[in-house]
Amino acid sequence: MDSGTLFVSLNGNKIENTNIKENFKEVGLHEMLLNNLNKMNFEKMTPIQKNVIPIITEGNDVMACSQTGSGKTIAFLSPIVNKMLNEGPPNINLENFPSAPVALILIPTRELAEQIYKEGRKLLHQTGVHITKIYGGVPHDSQIRELREGTDILVATPGRLIDFLNSKLITLKAVKYLILDEADRILDLGFSDQLNTITLNYGKFLLIFPYINKKFIIKIKI
Ligand code: AMP
Repeated sequence: MDSGTLFVSLNGNKIENTNIKENFKEVGLHEMLLNNLNKMNFEKMTPIQKNVIPIITEGNDVMACSQTGSGKTIAFLSPIVNKMLNEGPPNINLENFPSAPVALILIPTRELAEQIYKEGRKLLHQTGVHITKIYGGVPHDSQIRELREGTDILVATPGRLIDFLNSKLITLKAVKYLILDEADRILDLGFSDQLNTITLNYGKFLLIFPYINKKFIIKIKI
């Protein structure tokens, strides 16, 4: 993949833009992830991956701008799965909800859900971590069946997520990682109320990836 040139500026507490690593092997990812990345033929990190993976691995929140095709999905998935593998399953009472994801990836469209799911399946191969996708515009049945099998990482459009939260198929009590991918498009599609409900109540660790590099504001209560 030709990722071209990327201008990177980093700011925030504890952020250092020095000694950037080039390869996945150098950033302390779990052996299983390195194997899968190797099978995907990814050795060198793209610019967004080089800059974002170490920051997330160290436990910082991130807001980054990066176009589709720049390797953004692996940039947020690999450090999160890495943490999940190292930390093990959450130790909380899930009150018999069929699905209690630890990572929630909110996206605006079905196409993006499919894309992230496909990339996620390859990255998660034989890790024991389970990814599921839900989106609107299709019948609920097959999604309900999948949710009943349990999920660790849920890729969801906000409307369908709220449906399943209301029918108590999903709890977000276990969510530790909240990713808003193409967050500005979620707002453009009129999901701002749903986005507020979800971001205000869940997620201790937040990653925001806008679709285009334009100014936009999301209010998040901390
Ligand atoms: P994105 O939509 O930004 O997640 O980019 C996805 C595309 O980038 C897919 O075609 C991936 O297979 C590819 N990709 C992701 N990471 C790498 C990498 N480190 N080296 C080469 N291609 C990659």
